[in-house]
Amino acid sequence: MKLNYTKSLRKMEDILKIWGRRYLTLYGKVTVLNTFVISQLVYLLSVLPSPSKAMLTQIEKMIFDFVWCNKPDKVKRGVMKLSKYDGGMSIPDIGIKNDSLKIAWVQRIMKGNNSWNIMIQKYVPVNLDILWHLNVNLADMTIMIARMPNQFMKEVLMGWSRYNFHNPTNIHKIRNQVIWFNSHVRVDNCTIFLRALYAANIMYVHQFFDERGDILSLPNFQLKYGIQINFLTYYSVLSAIPQRWKVEIKEHHTIVDVPFIHMPLSNLERKDHVCKVVYGDLIQQAYGGTIATGFRKWNDWLPGGLQMEVWQYGFRIMYTTLQYTKTLLVQFKILHFITATRAKLFLWDIVDDDLCSFCNEAIETLPHLLIECEAVKLFWNDLKHWLFLKSGILFQPTVSEIIIGFQNPDLMFNAVYLLAKRYLCRCSTAQEFPSIRIFKIFLKDFLTVEENIALKNNKLNTFINIWDTIWPYQD
Ligand SMILES: [Zn+2]
Repeated sequence: MKLNYTKSLRKMEDILKIWGRRYLTLYGKVTVLNTFVISQLVYLLSVLPSPSKAMLTQIEKMIFDFVWCNKPDKVKRGVMKLSKYDGGMSIPDIGIKNDSLKIAWVQRIMKGNNSWNIMIQKYVPVNLDILWHLNVNLADMTIMIARMPNQFMKEVLMGWSRYNFHNPTNIHKIRNQVIWFNSHVRVDNCTIFLRALYAANIMYVHQFFDERGDILSLPNFQLKYGIQINFLTYYSVLSAIPQRWKVEIKEHHTIVDVPFIHMPLSNLERKDHVCKVVYGDLIQQAYGGTIATGFRKWNDWLPGGLQMEVWQYGFRIMYTTLQYTKTLLVQFKILHFITATRAKLFLWDIVDDDLCSFCNEAIETLPHLLIECEAVKLFWNDLKHWLFLKSGILFQPTVSEIIIGFQNPDLMFNAVYLLAKRYLCRCSTAQEFPSIRIFKIFLKDFLTVEENIALKNNKLNTFINIWDTIWPYQD
């Protein structure tokens, strides 16, 4: 088994070496990773027990060395793993990929009467229909299936419990918790399972309460379900139900029970491509709360700060405005505050000084390059007037809107500002003074190419819809 992984690891290394020699943008690299590299492993991960932690770490290192050309990371890994609309690049997380491939098996097991079913049933004390409803955490699941000999199936169940375990937050979730093997319901720090009650179809927390939300007394409980149970046992079960749940059930006692299925299980029951769905959920769970450094820097710099949603909205705007990867990459770098300005290049010993090549007066930081420089202010002003002449709309974006993008039904405005930012970065690299005249040539080249592409793809109408206010232009 280890041999299998070592073999495909070597293959991955070779592929990365070959692609590493070519010039690829970040977007190109992501495509290579997801189509040629990870695919080497996917099959093995979905049929074999997981590779060692050391191997997973090694793969992660290979991936990020490739992404950043063997240099230090510029954006936090967690952020890079998020989807592009959340500010990331969908860089694969191999550990989570592994988990989601294992969890996807639960769907296959649930769907059929197969040998896996029979094998699992031998080692878990509850019916498989109930098994997937248990709210059991990883530690308790590990104890429950300790005797199971098949390592692969063990990992499937452990992955499942990690994905599915939750703290029930609303009354429906609380009332419908399966009480058995529930990691929130503990006696002597262990989960509970009473075979006799289970056999009498007593499964859910709400079955221990009456219609007023009060706990059933022992005689009433015995009467209602027609079974005998020891006084001490009964009260130890009751005392194990969390106090918060009891309060909620009492408070909402008039509520009408609705059949309730926790999200992970409903995903597995209803969705196709379940591995992808699970992967997305687990990535969100693991990294969704990561504060990107780029956000923090813009938040510090902008007078009045910046809201996280606005920063994230910037990604949505750019991806819905343009498909042109080089321009998108410029904006991606701006939002993440990693543009190679002269201040940065100087720090890396690539240029002799860090002064702005436009004004030669101030250090060329990213805010200087985009906003503060007098030459750039002039450029934005010229652009504004030119757009006004063309469209009849006097559009005056705020500083934050210039950086992030803006809510404007007219795609053309966002697109022009995105291209203008790319133009400014280009001027800085070429040490040329930004001018509206040169920018119009730049824009003209871009639009000529775009028009041809649109023509080829039968999308001329879309092209005209976006650009007809300024294109074709005479001056
Ligand atoms: Zn300057």
